[in-house]
Amino acid sequence: MGVFDHAAYEEHQQVVFCRRERAGLTAIIAVHDTTLGPAIGGCRMAPYPGEEEALADALRMSRAMTYKAACAGTNLGGGCAVILGDPESDKTEVQLRAFGQFVDSLDGRFIASTDIGTTSEDMDTINLETDHVCGVGQHYGGSGDPSPVCAWGVLYGMKAASMRLWDNESLAGKKVAIQGVGKVGAQLARYLYDEGAELFVSDLEKGNTDRVKREFGATVVDADEIYEQDVDVFAPCALGGALRTDTIERIKAKVVVGSANNQLQDEARDAETLQKRDILYAPDFVVNAGGLISVYTEIHAAPREKAMRDTEGIVQTLGRIFDLAEQEKITTLEAANRVARQRIEEIGALAGFHIGPLE
Ligand code: NAD
Repeated sequence: MGVFDHAAYEEHQQVVFCRRERAGLTAIIAVHDTTLGPAIGGCRMAPYPGEEEALADALRMSRAMTYKAACAGTNLGGGCAVILGDPESDKTEVQLRAFGQFVDSLDGRFIASTDIGTTSEDMDTINLETDHVCGVGQHYGGSGDPSPVCAWGVLYGMKAASMRLWDNESLAGKKVAIQGVGKVGAQLARYLYDEGAELFVSDLEKGNTDRVKREFGATVVDADEIYEQDVDVFAPCALGGALRTDTIERIKAKVVVGSANNQLQDEARDAETLQKRDILYAPDFVVNAGGLISVYTEIHAAPREKAMRDTEGIVQTLGRIFDLAEQEKITTLEAANRVARQRIEEIGALAGFHIGPLE
C-alpha cells in the first residue's frame, strides 16, 4: 500500500503504523501538520473493510483537523488516529493501553482524544500509558464528553448563517432537519428546542429518535427522507459523506450547518453544487470545532464555561468566511481553507525570529 502517492496524502509530516498482535492492536496515527502546535486528533475505532480505507480516513481526518484547529484560533496542529476493529466486540483494556504506548512514543507530537467508536472512559484507559491524551473523564480532571460543546458550536453556526440570510440570528420558528440524533444531534435538538425551532429528525436507531420526539416534540422521518424535508436548515450530524450529487439535489433547506466530519463526498464538486443551488454551506470543520475547543481548554485547565464562550466565536469566523466567499466569488469551503492556510502561514513565519545566542 503506497502512502505518499495515496489520493488523500497531502504533505502529511508523519504516518505511524502501529501493531501489537498479542494486544490485538492494529492502528494508524497520521500527523498532518504541527506548524501551530502538537497535532490534536480524534482516536476513531471502526471495523474498516481494510487497511486502505483506514489509512484514507486517517489521512483525510488529520488534514481536516489541521484546518479546524487553525480556524478555531488554537495553538494546535492536526492529527488523527484510527484503530481497526469493532468497538462493540474488539475493544479491550490491553489494546487501548498498547495504543497509549504508541501515542507516548511520539513524545507529545500527537495528542489523542475521543471520536466515533471511543469514549472518555477509553481515554482514561489510554491515559494510564501516556499523558498525551485529552477528553478524559471529569473525575480525572478532564473535560469529559465534548459533544455538548460541539452542539453549542453548531447552534452558533446556525445563528451566523441565519444572520447572513435572514438578517436575524434568532432560530425561533425556523424549521430544522437533523440527520442523526446521537450525542451531538440530540444535544443540538435540545438547544434548538429551547430556541423555539421546529424539529425534524432521522436516525438509524429508533431509541434515539423516540427520545428526541418525546422530549422536544420532534417529527421523526425515515433516514432517506430527511434530505427533502421542507425546512430552513439541514444539519448533517451522522456520518461523513452525506452531501453528494444525488442528496444535494433533494435538499430544500437554504442553509447546511451540521457537526458531521467530512460532510462533502467530493469536496470541490459538492461545495460548488451547493453554491449553484443557492444553499449556504457552513464548512463542517469550522462549525464542529466546539469539540476541539473543549479539549483545548482541558489542556489549559480552563473550565467548560470558557469552552462554551470561545465556541461562540464560530459566529465571527463564519462571518469572515462568508464575506471572503462573496468578495472572491469562491465557495465557502475554499474561503475557509484560505482562512486556515493564512493563519498557519502567518504564525509559522514567526518561527524565523531567532531568540538566544548561538549554542
Ligand atoms: P454518535 O455516534 O453519537 O451519533 C451519530 C448518530 O448518527 C447515531 O445515533 C447513528 O445511529 C446515526 N446515524 C448513522 N448513520 C445514519 C444515517 N444514515 N441517517 C441517520 N442517522 C444515522 O456520534 P456523535 O458524537 O453525535 O457525532 C456525530 C458526528 O459529528 C460525527 O460525524 C462526528 O465525527 C462529528 N463530530 C462529533 C464531535 C463530538 O464532540 N462528539 C465533534 C466533532 C465532530
